[in-house]
Amino acid sequence: MPVKNRFAELLPEITAWRRDFHEHPELMFDVQRTAGKVAELLRDFGCDEVVEGIGRTGVVGLIRGRTDSAGRVIGLRADMDALPINEATGLDYASKTPGKMHACGHDGHTAMLLGAAKYLAETRNFDGTVALIFQPAEEGGGGGREMVQDGMLDRFGIQEVYGMHNMPGIPVGTFAIRTGAIMAAADQFDIVVTGKGGHAAKPHDCIDTTVVAAHIVVALQTIASRGVDPLKQVVVSVCTVATDSTAHNVIPQQVVMKGTVRTMDPKVQDYVEQRLSEIVMGTATALGASAVVQYKRGYPVTVNAVEPTGHAVKVAQEVAGQVDTDTAPLMGAEDFSFMLNERPGAYIFLGNGDTAMVHHPQYNFDDDAIPFGSSWYAGMAEARMPAA
Ligand SMILES: [Zn+2]
Ligand SMILES: [Zn+2]
Repeated sequence: MPVKNRFAELLPEITAWRRDFHEHPELMFDVQRTAGKVAELLRDFGCDEVVEGIGRTGVVGLIRGRTDSAGRVIGLRADMDALPINEATGLDYASKTPGKMHACGHDGHTAMLLGAAKYLAETRNFDGTVALIFQPAEEGGGGGREMVQDGMLDRFGIQEVYGMHNMPGIPVGTFAIRTGAIMAAADQFDIVVTGKGGHAAKPHDCIDTTVVAAHIVVALQTIASRGVDPLKQVVVSVCTVATDSTAHNVIPQQVVMKGTVRTMDPKVQDYVEQRLSEIVMGTATALGASAVVQYKRGYPVTVNAVEPTGHAVKVAQEVAGQVDTDTAPLMGAEDFSFMLNERPGAYIFLGNGDTAMVHHPQYNFDDDAIPFGSSWYAGMAEARMPAA
């Protein structure tokens, strides 16, 4: 199965959808326009069922194959949301909304899955049902989790799930994947250090929270450098440090710090959560201050199971020829992990070529990748439910 010829014919149409989504980016769960257009197109294609409002603004379309001898149902997933970024591409179809931009290529994912849906509804050359999953709020809102909690997988009897993300730095027309952990778990923490503020010329009468916070920031570096096995992946980043003083001569009462923890292994995640709290509390106590730590777990690790990864690789090889089957995992996180925690499946990277990285104001999805992505989505359905 080389790139399906039909997708070469559909390319202008799919590209037009992609650029329309690009021009009209929407954030988090507020993807009403995008989801509405997705549902409308799925109905136009002749999907057997189109259900809106799953996980608030998610959409699921069902296409039944020519036969259904064994009740097989395969889920294919794309994400629809954009990012709060000011676009700087200068494209003629650049975002029309200041402060919102499709900087992660979800416009491309949605358009490619729509393309696959159009082809699958035309051909129906499979034995079972395809569930086309369009989710909101991948960028931090947990839209994938909400769709799962809404009962999507059981409601439609979805047995396997496959997802894809474009990736700059990988040549267009090629794929990359790995078995096991491919994206990290992302947790966040909030630390509040309270001391005793006062005149900066009288530090002996104060408990200087700025100094305590500085010690905490440095001590937290020992989690990665001294606590975790160097062969395991871990990131501990303090990203915000804010005091309640804006003066040159006032020692603040309080310092607030915020940051992120990225891990690939649940044991390392448990260790970091515990150690972070111990280091903050111990350091604050040693220096006479007090502290409160809030640690919140976010998206879990995205894990590709062995067998489904093999299926994903096989289809990618048929579509593209070139597949890197041992790509390095990324410390970013992905809420497709909530679906992979419930069902066997895999998550693959689609080459976006030599562009700016995702989440950059100059990033753009490469439309030349569309035939490969759409072919892979459609190919997964046909390969996992071969026509009788
Ligand atoms: Zn993103
Ligand atoms: Zn993304």
